[in-house]
Amino acid sequence: MQLKKEIGLKNQIKSKPTQYRNFPMVPRVIYGPGSFGQLGEILMPQRKSSDAPVIFLVDDVFEGEELANRIPLLFDDQLIFISADEEPKTEQVDALVSKLLSDYEELPSAIVGIGGGTLLDLAKAVAIMLTNQGTASEYQGWDLVKKPSVYHVGIPTISGTGAEVSRTTVLLGPQKKLGINSDYTPFDQVVLDPDLARGVPADQWFYTGMDCYIHCVESLNGTYLNAFSQSYGEKALDLCKEVFLHDLTEDESREKLMMASWHGGMSIAYSQVGVAHAMSYGLSYVLGTRHGIGNCLVFQHLEEFYPEGVELFKQMQEKHGILLPEGICASLSEQEMDTMVSVALGLEPLWENALGSGWRDIMTPSRLKSLYKKI
Ligand code: NAD
Ligand code: ZN
Repeated sequence: MQLKKEIGLKNQIKSKPTQYRNFPMVPRVIYGPGSFGQLGEILMPQRKSSDAPVIFLVDDVFEGEELANRIPLLFDDQLIFISADEEPKTEQVDALVSKLLSDYEELPSAIVGIGGGTLLDLAKAVAIMLTNQGTASEYQGWDLVKKPSVYHVGIPTISGTGAEVSRTTVLLGPQKKLGINSDYTPFDQVVLDPDLARGVPADQWFYTGMDCYIHCVESLNGTYLNAFSQSYGEKALDLCKEVFLHDLTEDESREKLMMASWHGGMSIAYSQVGVAHAMSYGLSYVLGTRHGIGNCLVFQHLEEFYPEGVELFKQMQEKHGILLPEGICASLSEQEMDTMVSVALGLEPLWENALGSGWRDIMTPSRLKSLYKKI
């Protein structure tokens, strides 16, 4: 009887259909207005020697600003200002890595990224490529990174992408725009200081904030949703509604959007994004459209997929007087349009999450083309 029971149990375990994924998370985070002031003491125990520097990759919008003076430089540390005018590229990562390898005899003790998604992704990618052979484009994909990265710290100065918490670093490579998704990608330490987001221009605040809102809508309406993702997605969505539809003080708004970004990122870790992100990747690949505004440009036309989400988006847009450019795709050649469609349709998990396993019958190339033509 007992044996039968045991055999039954073993069979049950053997035939268990689902293999759950085992995700790493950011192990350390400090939150609070002014917490950036503790960066020096956070880094101190990570410093291997005076010859192993800390490298600060900082958005050049802070060049000559007070924040730059507060960076805790010691020994041979280096502060490198980088423009976020263009999204990060694999060749940019390769150039930074070869510079650092030739500037120092020892590997850096830490890479610290200070800025928006662009600088956070660059910092993650540089930390990975300092310890892994070859070029960054060879690692675009899933779980291709073999060796642990250099200790890296993410310090967001604008909220929404969730790059501070995600397991990816999105890079534009010679052939594709794709992330380095790996267990070695997430930051070892994140500093969430809402005061750093004080100077963000209103339109950019809206676009990057909407990235978070759209993460929530796509995650919560996706077929991949589970209770883990839902719990984070719902919290992030509530925070976005407070930030973009209520009348908060500026301090409250910055604090809540920073946490919305974190929760939105956590939500998509275990689910996926959807139609807007797939289409936005196509726009970005062909036209170089930035992630935040690209998502907005697409999302406004997706009422057939996300009716409530799009209605709220339009209310938020109106409340903040955000006007989006029109006719972006009007002058595209047939060939460019075909490329855009094929880049977007190549993002299979996003479509499967959004529309289910039969997505190919729902989102045909001609339907996608007609959606693009509205933009
Ligand atoms: P960003 O880093 O591209 O910056 C946008 C603009 O805001 C830039 O002009 C920048 O200089 C400015 N800025 C940033 N902080 C500022 C401040 N405090 N004051 C004044 N100006 C400031 O913006 P983003 O929207 O955060 O990031 C977009 C990038 O993130 C894209 O490259 C996208 O691919 C990537 N992304 C990554 C993930 C991920 O999980 N890794 C997720 C979503 C998006
Ligand atoms: Zn996004």
